[in-house]
Formats: sequence, structure tokens, C-alpha cells
Amino acid sequence: MEIYLDANATTPVLPQAREAALAAMADDFGNPSSIHSTGLKARALMDGVRARARRVLGAGGGRLLFLSGATEGIQTAVLSALGALRNAPIKPELLLYGATEHKAVPEAIKHWNALLGLNLQVLPIPVGPDGRHDLDWLRARAPRAGLVCTMAANNETGVISDLDGIEAALAGSTALWMVDGVQALGKLPLRLAERRIDYAPFSGHKLYAPKGIGLLYVRDGAPFTPLLAGGGQEGALRSGTENMSGIAALGAVLAALEDGRTFREHATLVAFRDRLAEALQQAFPGLVFNAPPELCLPTTLNFAVPGVSSKLLLDLFDAAELRVSGGSACSAAKAAPSYVLEAMGLPAWQTASSVRLSFGPVADRAFIDEACARIRICGESLRDSCLDPNAPSQALPADGLTRFIVDGACCYLLADADSRRAVVIDPLPELTERLAQWLRCQNYELAAVLDTHSHGDHASSASELLAAVRQHRGDVDGLGWPRGTDAIALGAQSLTRLAIPGHTQDSTAYLLHDPQGLRLAFVGDTVMPGALGRSDFEQSAPQRYGASLRQLEQAVGPHTLLLPGHDYDDRFASTLAVECVAQPLLAEVLGGRVDDADFAAAKARLEQGLALTEYQTVACGARIDSGCPLSSSELTLAELTQMACQHAGLVLVDVREPYEQRLGQAPELGRGVKREAVALSGLPNALARWTALPAETPVVFFCRSGNRSAQAAQALRRLGHERAWSLSGGLALWPRITAAADAAFAI
Ligand code: PLP
Repeated sequence: MEIYLDANATTPVLPQAREAALAAMADDFGNPSSIHSTGLKARALMDGVRARARRVLGAGGGRLLFLSGATEGIQTAVLSALGALRNAPIKPELLLYGATEHKAVPEAIKHWNALLGLNLQVLPIPVGPDGRHDLDWLRARAPRAGLVCTMAANNETGVISDLDGIEAALAGSTALWMVDGVQALGKLPLRLAERRIDYAPFSGHKLYAPKGIGLLYVRDGAPFTPLLAGGGQEGALRSGTENMSGIAALGAVLAALEDGRTFREHATLVAFRDRLAEALQQAFPGLVFNAPPELCLPTTLNFAVPGVSSKLLLDLFDAAELRVSGGSACSAAKAAPSYVLEAMGLPAWQTASSVRLSFGPVADRAFIDEACARIRICGESLRDSCLDPNAPSQALPADGLTRFIVDGACCYLLADADSRRAVVIDPLPELTERLAQWLRCQNYELAAVLDTHSHGDHASSASELLAAVRQHRGDVDGLGWPRGTDAIALGAQSLTRLAIPGHTQDSTAYLLHDPQGLRLAFVGDTVMPGALGRSDFEQSAPQRYGASLRQLEQAVGPHTLLLPGHDYDDRFASTLAVECVAQPLLAEVLGGRVDDADFAAAKARLEQGLALTEYQTVACGARIDSGCPLSSSELTLAELTQMACQHAGLVLVDVREPYEQRLGQAPELGRGVKREAVALSGLPNALARWTALPAETPVVFFCRSGNRSAQAAQALRRLGHERAWSLSGGLALWPRITAAADAAFAI
């Protein structure tokens, strides 16, 4: 069953709110502007909800408008304030907003400031390391400000603003004051009319009402300009027929707030939060909280674990059916740090790897117990995988190949469980700590740290890695190969090397052999998916490149898996046969149709004016093919089920990482299905085996959301197995036994 701990993003709808909404749709469906009895009933309902909201919010004689949500409330408040400032006899200079406000606030201010032609200076109010506004800064600027926007509580950290302090800092200023009350509703007493607050927006879906209904408080006498003009609803302050089902549901939530039985008291919520915090600290030793709990809403925890990315933690929690959110948004190429934590001046690692856990005030003891139990299981799973640098090892010996990728650069870890030895190929500085921690945790000897060449875009971090695991480099050449050795043994496997100068003079391929023969080759940048390594560096040997390619072909043949030094498009691996089709120049030089000098000249032409990569690093080769995905490999669950019936022997591969796989498995699909677990980071271990399957055998990958499985399916297709698919939407769309919304209230 799902444990939903992302209440600051949105909440399920309270059962009594659902009933009220349904009744407003089915029975009391009138338009409150109609003057017949059906309309009058709707109006009475709406008036009743408004009266309740007035009591709950302490709105006194202020106006309360129903609108679509907080974003609309914020627009209306900002437009109203700026509209008044435009006509003010003495123009203010500044528009101020808290540096940690929801983006809706600064964006609305900038938008209306420009549109109304005010062009006032817009400034963020700095916050301290505790997330609270710098009141001295505010006091100094308040006299020149026309509008001040400060949230009541922050959505990412839960930090509660010092509204009394802000009010005092505004003393003597004529600035209008907006307080975003979204995260405070139902969690903090607001008593709006007791303060000089001019505007306060609220959103129903953050407190168990449906999406699409919100409230805006406007102080009696505060300037107002309607955002929507039309039929004159809401006293002509907000036109448009009212969202009656939303209003009815919001009314049920407000009734629950008033009855005092549905929502837990503050002290109970604090006790719940403390238990969750303790479970987190036990599960992830070293964890730090990003805001002081005593200043925060009792329902929000924001934390980071040193050395563990928020992406990894989210995948881990999600596999345990615990829904939390990343404090920072992750784009495909880079994780964007949290601007809220940045504003608080937290170190970069914390701003980039934060996780937010938030629950709603209907949570009960059983729910918190279950959440704590699962958090502990997540901690265990991470320790089993040697991925928590702060926790002692309890891992099973690892075996096989793991690929790491940083900004398109690849690093490989080759581990052998029998001999407990490992080799790292093309170490990256960003991975030193992670690899060292893994080696220490597994207690493996580092047999060698090899580079495939002297890199153009980064320095080798071999020495740092060896130092981190307290091993001496020994008598090795410039690329880390032990002098006087032909092969490096790794249990039953061994590595040999082949000089392939071209990209650089020292370019070397490492060939991995097992008892059955040559298994794969690490070829650095000499042959990458869709590109040949550039040969215009000072340390390049362009005239020798062609001969090296032919030597490589002689050693590995057309179909051996080649693992590249860079992979900008998640292709994982290639073969000379595949690359000859994608890169005609390669086919020509291997086929003997161009000589080495012409090959070097043709390559030089391709490399003219090479741009930086999307990661702003030096491009290691000129792309020949487009890098676009092949035709769609997406499969719906219905299509997969049908395919499983039609093809006995369908291979279904879970590409989630082992720490996720341990926490939960996909439901059964059928008896003929052959299930495998091959983590995306270990994909090269299995690619050759899948390409050797009969062409008609479907291989279907799945993961949590469909992203990683799409990469796997595309990689396998590119290697020639056409019938490779990815389950669209992943496990997230695989139906569960319990409906999530009911489950949220079932305990
Ligand atoms: N303000 C805060 C503090 C929020 O957390 C949110 C939603 O995340 C909003 C404003 C926007 O609310 P809505 O989704 O109702 O537009």
C-alpha cells in the first residue's frame, strides 16, 4: 500500500469532501446566480462555506473570494496592489518578496510590474540560514516599498515566517502586504484580520479539497482590481460561474477544521514529525535536516544525506511505496539545486540533494508507524548496496560490471566476487568518494585503475582513488597498467590491452576475456556510439588512427561489445558492425577503401569547429548520426500483457537498481514470461546475451517511471535486437491492489 508523504504538493480528497462535491454535482447542482429555488439552494451553500471560511481564517470584515487556487489568488492580489500603486500620487520605488516564496509570487510581480508599465525595482528579501526573513534588511527598505510579499510557511522546508516581526518591520510603511497562506491553512492559527495583512491566497488541494478551488482574503479597504471581468459573480470581484463542487468540498474541509475531530492537534503532529525524523536518522546515519524543526510546520521535513543524491533517495523511497519529493527539480542533464535552500545559504551538496517529506494533518499513528518502518527498510537496502557512505557495510559481495556516467563521460567498475578484486576503468574525479566508499564497504582489492587514454576533458583521478582506498599505485605506466604484465587477472576473467593510437598517442583498448573467450572491450573514445574520437588534440596521432581501427577490428571482430569512454545519448555500448552502418567513414577505412592519410584528412574536416557538448565539456568526437531515438519502443501494460500471452519466452527485465529491486517486485504477468533483474548501471553485462536471442523474442524493460527502461530498450534496438520494448509509465502505472486515495484514509 502506498504511503503518501508529499502533502505539501497536494493531498487526496477527504471522504466527506468527496461526498459534498458529489452532492453538489448530482443534487444541489444549481447556479448560485439563478433566482429560482435550485439556484437559491446553491447560493445558500456557498454563503455557508464563506461564513465558515471567515471564522476559520479569522477574516473579520475582510472580503473572501472563491477562485481557482492560490496562483490565481496571487495574481489577483498582485494586480490589485500594483493597479493601486500605478495611480498613487507618490510612486514607491520597490516591490519586495521573500527569497523563498513560491515561484508564483515573483513571477506574478514581474509580470504585472512590466504589463502595467510600473517598472519598479523588484527585490528578493534575503533569508537567514534558518529560512526566516532578514527583518533588518526589510525594515531598512520598507519605507520605499509599495508591496511586500511574505509567505506564512514555506512549501519546501516548512519554515514558518515570523509574521509579527514582519508586521513590526513594516511599521510606518504604506506598503501593501500579501501573505501566501497556502501551506499554513489547517496547520497554523492565522487570525488574518488581527494583522495588517492586505491579501492572503489559499489553495484547497493542499488541505484535502479537490484541485481547482481556492480562496483569496482581501482586507476591508484594501485596493482591488478584478482579474476576471464578466458576468459579475462574487460581487463583480471575480466573474465566472462558481466552482460549486469545489466550494462544497472546501466547505466540508473547513467544517472538519472547525469540528476539531478530523485533524490532529499541533502537539500530536509534532510527535509524529519527531518519530519520522528519528527513523530517518537511524536509517541514514549522517543525514542532516535543512531547516531547524522548531521553526517549521510540524508536518514537513527537508533533509539531505551526504554522498547520496536526491534522485537515488527518491527511487529508493518510491520502490518502498513511500512517496516523497525532491526538494530540487531534476532535469535530464543536471540536477537543479533548490533555490529555497540556496537562499538560505546552505552548501551546494545540500541544495542539490535535498528531499522533502510532508504529511497532512489527518495522519494517524498507524500511518506514521508504517512510514517509519518503511524508512528503516530503505536504509537497510541502501546499506546492502554499499551506497550509504555514512553507514557500516552489510553488503553481499558484488560481481560484474557497473557503468557510471557523469556529464556524458563513462567510468566502469569491474568486480569479481570470487577473488574479491576490482578494476576501475577511466576513473572520474566526481566519483572518487563513491568508488572508494564502495571498495571499502565491499572490502575488495583494487587490482588496477586504468585509463583508456590521457583525457582531453578531465584529468585522470586514478591517484586520488588509490589514495582514498590507501593503496599504492605500484610500478605502472602512464595509464595505470602494471609494467611487465601481459594480463590482469580477475578471478576466472582477465584483462589484456591493445594499443590503438589515434585519438591520443597513448589510446589503449582493454579487452575482457572470460573462460568462453573475448567478452567485451573498453575502447575509450576511439569508437563511440555515433562518433569516432576527435584527432585534432595536441596529443592526437591522426595518421595512425586508421591502422589502429583495423587492428581493433582484427582483435575483436565485428560483433564484440565495445564500451565507450563517452556516451552522450545513453546508448551504452556498440559494435564495429553497428558503427560501420552509422558511420560511413569507419566502414570505408575498415574496408580498405580509404588510406590512412585520406582518413585523417576526412576526419579533420569533420572536426572543424566542433561545439562544446550539452554539458559544456569538450566534445570528444564529431557526431555522424543524429543521436535521435529510434522509433518508439513504448509499450502499454495492456500491450505487454497481450504480448506475454502471444510469445512464450518473453523476457521481462527489471532495470531498477538492486536497492530498489530489493524493496518490491512487479506483479506476475504470466507463466511463460522469463523475468530478469539487470540494473541499468549493469546493462553492459547482459546486452550481448540479449542480442544473441532469436530475433522474434520480445525483451521488455521496466523501471519505476519508464525513463530508464526506455534507455535500455533503445540501446538494445540499436545493437540490432528490434523487438526491444519499454513499459510506458513503468511500475508507477502498474495497477496496485489498493486504490491510493482510499488507502490514504484507510488507516
Ligand atoms: N504558494 C505556495 C506556498 C504553494 O505551495 C503553492 C503550491 O505548490 C502555490 C502557492 C500555488 O498553489 P496552486 O496550486 O493552488 O496554484
